[in-house]
Formats: sequence, C-alpha cells, structure tokens
Amino acid sequence: MPVVPPRGSVRGGGVLADRFGRVATDLRVSLTDRCNLRCTYCMPEEGLAWMPREQQLTDDEVGRLIRVAVELLGVTQIRFTGGEPMIRRGLLGIVAGAAALRPRPRMSITTNGIGLERLAGPLREAGLDRVNVSLDTLSPTRFKELTHRDRHADVLKGLAGAAEAGLTPVKINTVLMRGINDGEAPALLQFALDHGYQLRFIEQMPLDAQHQWDRQEMVTADAILASLAPFGLVPDNVSRGTAPAETWLVPGYRDAADQPARVGVIGSVTRPFCGDCDRTRLTADGQVRNCLFATGETDLRGLMRDGSSDTELADAWRAAMLGKKAGHGIDDPSFLQPDRPMSAIGG
Ligand code: SAM
Ligand code: SF4
Repeated sequence: MPVVPPRGSVRGGGVLADRFGRVATDLRVSLTDRCNLRCTYCMPEEGLAWMPREQQLTDDEVGRLIRVAVELLGVTQIRFTGGEPMIRRGLLGIVAGAAALRPRPRMSITTNGIGLERLAGPLREAGLDRVNVSLDTLSPTRFKELTHRDRHADVLKGLAGAAEAGLTPVKINTVLMRGINDGEAPALLQFALDHGYQLRFIEQMPLDAQHQWDRQEMVTADAILASLAPFGLVPDNVSRGTAPAETWLVPGYRDAADQPARVGVIGSVTRPFCGDCDRTRLTADGQVRNCLFATGETDLRGLMRDGSSDTELADAWRAAMLGKKAGHGIDDPSFLQPDRPMSAIGG
C-alpha cells in the first residue's frame, strides 16, 4: 500500500519523498553528456550525437536548480558526473556556488581522472570534498583498447593529484568485463591498497548506448568476491545505510586515514539496493529523473525558461519523485532499457 510521504523539515512544502517512504537527499548532477574517452561499456568509438548546446543548462541554471534542491527540497549531498564532468568549463564556479549554500551540501565528483592532476587543488579550494575516479585496468595497452584513448598515465596522475589535494578518501570505480579485465581484480585491489585508495567494483548495467549488455556475460558480485578470495576478505559490520556498495575489510591493510582498509562491491544487478535508494538525478539538459533506469523525465529546464518560480520548480521536482518505482526490474522479463545511455543520464 502506498505510504504517505513525510513532509520533512525543509522550507516550502517538504522533502523529495516517494510513495514507498524513501526520501531523496543525494542529488546526481550531470554537467555534460560529452566525454574524452569511449569506454566500450558506455559509448561507441565514434561517440554519440551530443546534446545541442542550447538545450544544455547554463552554469546559472545548474546553480539555481542546485539551490532549489538544497534550500527547498532537503538535498544534503551532491555528486557531479556526466559524461565527463571535468570537461565542463564552468565546473569550478558551479562547485563554489554550491559550497556557498546553507546548509552546505557535501560534494563529490565521478570522473575518468583526465585533467584531475591539474584541477584537484582548485576543486578542493572551490569546496569539493571527495572524488571517485574510474579505472578498469592497470595496463596502458588494455586501457587504450577499453577506452579508445591512450590516457592511462593521465588517470594515474589524476588519482595521485586527488590524494595530494586532500580529496579523500579517493575512491576507484571499476567495471569488470568477462574475458577482458576480470582477471585483473586482485591486482587492482592490490594497487588500491598500496596507494591508500578505496576500490569499488561495479556490476555492468544495461545502460550502454550500443545496447550490447548481456546478463549472461556480466561479471557478478559473487564472481568478483570469489576472485578476491586470496585476500581473505571479512564482512564489514558497518551498516551500508543508503550507500550502494557492500563493503568488506581487507585484513592486514590500513587506508590513507589509518582506518582498516575496505573494498566495495556494487551489485546493482544481482544485489539491487533500490529499497534504500536516496537519489534524485538532474541531466545536463535539465530533466529530473527519479531513477537511473526511469523511462520518464520531468522537464525543469522548460519550466525554468518559461519563468517558473523556485517554489514551482520545487513542486515539479517533488511530483517527479512521487512517481519513483519500487525497483529497477532489470531481472524482470518486461525490463526496458532507458532511451538515454548512462553518459547522457549521469552515472
Ligand atoms: N566519465 C565519468 C567516469 O567515467 O567516471 C563519469 C560518468 S560515468 C557514466 C560514471 C560511472 O559509470 C563510471 O564509473 C563508469 O565506469 C560507470 N559506467 C558507465 N557505464 C556503465 C555500465 N554500463 N555499467 C556499469 N557502470 C557503468
Ligand atoms: Fe566517458 Fe565515463 Fe562513459 Fe567512460 S564511462 S565513456 S569516461 S562517460
């Protein structure tokens, strides 16, 4: 039976609640659908038909919607993503604008790491708290095959730059693909442990632009954990809360903050966490999505450009979240992959 949404304690009408009692406090903001890599599980080598510039939100429009989310809707955490968020020219200004809001949201970025060596310090100064860097291989040759670009060294430098700038804990996101890089799981974990980074493996999801995802070929959370057996992982007794990653302790290792080292597995497909989801999403062209796998969107850009007030934008955002489904249903035979690929939603 539908649950009556809580009103919450924010100004002007309540938080982003859905019919199942979940409240979204974590906003994923996509800053662009463009990217300087071409990861095979994300987009084709030739790229995609990018969003026309005039459809993309301006920096001021992004800033306004973030302010509405924080001040009127109770959002406390923001993750910038894309596409590749570091190629957005106004990135530093957008981060600084969000950092000036009260209550100040916690902010992180998900990036492929290219350019992070140079930008880590300025991002930290602008108010960014943390970073997740995507890295699927330790081999420069395989990196080039997987991303169609010869930029492996830049990613490693980006990781080091993030740690040096204090964007910690620095997390690494890894997607394993059968017969391609799944043999690298132990080496990637060892690399992360040696550098004080926190590694999280992500199950591959049906969000590639090419629609080539195959459930049978996917490397499951169970398979990932089995390949890490030599580390003698110990289940973590810290509650996962709304975090997507289940974590394990790695005996004998400490992280950069001298805490017990951990490794995470995000089993989006085989161990879905939809019941605890606290996310809402804003695309680079100003559409609210209540789920990564939603097939519908709410057009805040149109409302904004037609002169809607902050209160009206907040009301539309709340209505969008009320329609959130209980789960993504990837394992359901009737599952439909969303029209937008991951790079245009914001991963
Ligand atoms: N370009 C940035 C990056 O790669 O970190 C941010 C956007 S990317 C879409 C965000 C995350 O989604 C990355 O960690 C990437 O590996 C992951 N990702 C992309 N396509 C995926 C898929 N089909 N299944 C699972 N994860 C995917
Ligand atoms: Fe670009 Fe990130 Fe997609 Fe790779 S996963 S192509 S880096 S958006």
